[in-house]
Amino acid sequence: MGEIVLEAFGRSPISKWVYSNPCQVGLIPVAGLNLPREWQRATAYPWYDESLERKMPRILDGAAIAAAIKQEVAEQARQLAVRGVRPGLAVVMVGSVPASEIYVRGKVQTCAELGIYSDLITPPETITTEEMLALVASLNARDEIDGILIQLPLPAHVDTKALLDAVSPAKDVDGFHPVNAGRLQAGRPALAPCTPAGIIQILKRSGIPIAGRHAVVVGRSDIVGKPAAMLLLHENATVTICHSKTRDLGAMTRQADILVAAVGRPGFITAEMVRPGATIIDVGMNRITDRAEFDRFFLGDAKREAAFAKRGSVVVGDVDPRAFEVAEAYTPVPGGVGLLTIAMLMANTVRAARMRRGL
Ligand code: NAP
Repeated sequence: MGEIVLEAFGRSPISKWVYSNPCQVGLIPVAGLNLPREWQRATAYPWYDESLERKMPRILDGAAIAAAIKQEVAEQARQLAVRGVRPGLAVVMVGSVPASEIYVRGKVQTCAELGIYSDLITPPETITTEEMLALVASLNARDEIDGILIQLPLPAHVDTKALLDAVSPAKDVDGFHPVNAGRLQAGRPALAPCTPAGIIQILKRSGIPIAGRHAVVVGRSDIVGKPAAMLLLHENATVTICHSKTRDLGAMTRQADILVAAVGRPGFITAEMVRPGATIIDVGMNRITDRAEFDRFFLGDAKREAAFAKRGSVVVGDVDPRAFEVAEAYTPVPGGVGLLTIAMLMANTVRAARMRRGL
């Protein structure tokens, strides 16, 4: 009886409402319509329109993916140890920048956890470019050092570009050296920048297809936007790169199957700029301290409210949190791309150790 009634409903707008509102249907005194949801989905009812259901977007868990990568890196370090090689990372942090100190501590601690030797070097704020160049030269020459990381930003009087160019490309675990940028572009083995490499790992390990899909990258910096676009291209995505001079940005971003936001502006990508069903990769890390700005993004979010009250700040990405609701999947901030950056730094250090020794 129920089936007959259902068949009679067919694909009419009423039927669509009925099947997308099963709770209300339960109140209708028509025999057979109050079916369990699984039965309504069964192939016996091919006209059942699943697209009418509101699907919750999937959160791409940066913590779990980073943990898996770190476990693999630790195993690779163990294998190298059997051959008498202990990968080593030198971290250079100039002066005292509280935000940098937190990152650097995290890097040194992760090295210890994974069996990687680390050497933290902390020159004073007053160090000159020449002295820094001499330090980099000495690190290039040390055999137990496989990776050199210069924590940015450097004091204004130090020539950052000259220093990054002075790091041996073989030890350039940040992937910022022009030689590595060129090798990446040419599709040759290279140490790729950690954050963009982490984006690819998130997509692949979450089973999100890249090949043949349209990836739109907003941002064209040398450390995030450009290498992310290049890595997506190598994965056979069709890639569009947008920047501050792009006209009608929303029209571009709405074409994205995969939307990468690396802009450096809090909540810049809004819900209207996202194609429903897209995957959003939010690279942004913006600390907000302003109450009005907090309310703009997180009004009614009790957890963040507590964090804001305690610390006077919270972190928001380059994507407005409301835009995530339109997506099929997204990386949260915090808890997304940021966690991959250290994991990929560790992976690059072990890779550099192997590549330098031809292992
Ligand atoms: P960046 O060097 O400042 O580059 C920002 C890019 O955004 C530029 O290419 C700029 O275009 C573009 N842009 C700025 N305003 C725009 C607008 N109105 N419309 C379209 N494009 C616009 O920043 P970044 O170093 O790439 O970093 C980007 C974000 O990622 C930041 O929030 C940063 O904190 C975060 N980040 C996170 C990690 C991590 O580990 N999670 C690592 C690195 C960076 P133009 O080139 O035309 O100026």
